Amino acid sequence: MANTERQKKNRARAVIWGVLSALLTAVILLVLLVILDGRHNEITMLGDEQLVLEYGESYEDPGVEIRQVGRVFPAMREAETVYALNSFDPMQLGTQQLEYLIVDNGTEKHLYREITVVDTQKPVIELLPFQEGQEPSWMRGYIEPGFTATDNVDGDMSNIVEVTLLDDRVVYSVTDSSGNEAVVERELPGGLDAPEIELMDGEQLTVTAAMSWEDPGFRVVDGQGHDLSEYVTVEGSVTPYRSGEYELSYTLTNLRGESVTATRHVTVEPVLQSDTVYPEIKTIYLTFDDGPSYYTPQLLDVLAKYNVKVTFFVTGNHPDYNDCIGRAYEEGHSIGVHSYTHNYYSIYASEDAFFEDFNKCEELIYEQTGSYTKLFRFPGGSSNTVSNFNPGIMSRLTKTMTDMGYYYFDWNVTSGDAGETTETDQVFWNVVNGSGHNVNVVLQHDIKGFSVAAVERIIVWGLNNGYQFLPLEESSYGAHHGVNN
Ligand code: ZN
Repeated sequence: MANTERQKKNRARAVIWGVLSALLTAVILLVLLVILDGRHNEITMLGDEQLVLEYGESYEDPGVEIRQVGRVFPAMREAETVYALNSFDPMQLGTQQLEYLIVDNGTEKHLYREITVVDTQKPVIELLPFQEGQEPSWMRGYIEPGFTATDNVDGDMSNIVEVTLLDDRVVYSVTDSSGNEAVVERELPGGLDAPEIELMDGEQLTVTAAMSWEDPGFRVVDGQGHDLSEYVTVEGSVTPYRSGEYELSYTLTNLRGESVTATRHVTVEPVLQSDTVYPEIKTIYLTFDDGPSYYTPQLLDVLAKYNVKVTFFVTGNHPDYNDCIGRAYEEGHSIGVHSYTHNYYSIYASEDAFFEDFNKCEELIYEQTGSYTKLFRFPGGSSNTVSNFNPGIMSRLTKTMTDMGYYYFDWNVTSGDAGETTETDQVFWNVVNGSGHNVNVVLQHDIKGFSVAAVERIIVWGLNNGYQFLPLEESSYGAHHGVNN
C-alpha cells in the first residue's frame, strides 16, 4: 500500500517535472527565437528629406513611417505614421524644418525634414492701352497711359517700375525682392518725327504791289497724317502795296515746347510805270473833277460839238448822274478815279481808308464803263496840306499808288473855279493866261456851272491858237506838284 502510494506520488512528481521542463524548454526556445529573429523598428521618412518648393505651393506632410520588423516574422504589426510636430508655411521664403518625434523602444528620436521655399516667379507687368486722343504723336509727345506691376510675393510694385522711353518703344522693368526681373515693352507708332511746314508757292515769293495780298498758305501734316495747320502761328506781315522785302515766319510748337519753323521771303515789286510821252505840239489836257453832276451832260454836248476829248476824275457824290461816266467813256474821254466820297478826313485817315474809298470809285467806273482805269487824281492834289492831320500820308500814297501801277495827275493850269472865282469870264482868262506851257493840264470842276460855261470859249481859243486837246493817258505828263505832306 505504501509502495503504491509512493509510486503514485513519484509518478505525479514526474509528470509535473515533465510539464515544467517542457514549459521551460518552450520559454527558452521562444527567447531564442526572439533573439534570433532580431525584431526591431524600421523608421522611414516618407517623401524627400530635402525639398524645394515654389512660394505659395502647398505641401502635405507624408510623415515618417514606423514599421516593426523581424527576420523570421517580417511584419508583426501594421505600420504607424508619425507626422511633424510643427506645420509648414508655404508663404515663408527660406528654409524651414519639419520635426518628427519618434519613440523607438522607449527612446525619443528626432527626425527633420528640410523644405526650402523659393520665389522664381517674375512680377507681372500689365500695360494699359492708349486712350483715344492720347496716342503718341509729335504734337503731344508720349503720354504714359499707365501700367500695373504685381508680384506674387511683393504684391503691387507699380510705383517702382522703371520706365525708359526710347525712340521706337517704351521699356518697363521691375525686379522683385527675390531678384526676378520682369521686362515688358510697348511699341510706339511710327511717324513721331518733327513735321515740316510746307509753304504753298514756295519760300521765295515775288508779288506785284497791290492793295491786298493773300498768303498762299501752308500745310503741315505729321507723320501719322494729322493736319496741324491750325496750330501754326504766323509772324511778320506783308504790306502788299509797299514795295520791299518782307519775311513771314510760320511756327508750329508742340506741347513739349519743340518748334518747327518755315520762313517765307516775299518781295513786293513795284509795277513798272510807262515812260512819259510828251506830245510834239502844244497840248491842252482839260480835266474835270468832282463830277459827274447836273452840268456834265451839257459839257459832254459841247465837247462832242468840237470833237474834243478830255479827262474826268469822277466821284460818286451825284449818283443821279453816274451814267454820264459811261457816256463820257463811250464818247472817247478818259475816266480817272478822284474819290468816291471826296471826304478828306476819312480818305486820308490811313492807306487802307484811302484804298477802300478808291476801290469804291473804281467799281463805280467799272459799272459804268465795263473797264478799270489806272488814272487818278488825289482829292486836293498830291500837294495838298489838308491831309496834314495824318503826317506823311501823301508821301506814302504817292509812292504806293505808283508802285501799284496807278498814274496820278496833278495840274499846271488852274481855272480858279475851286473858290478863287465864280465868274465864267475869269475862268476863261485864268485858263488862257495859264496855258503857256507846251503841255497844259487844266484843272476845272464839272460841278460848277460857271466853269463848265467857259469850256466852249476855251476850246475855240485853243484851237485858234495852235493847241490840240487830248485826253490823259497812262503815258501822259503828270504835272506833279511835289508832295507837301
Ligand atoms: Zn476834287
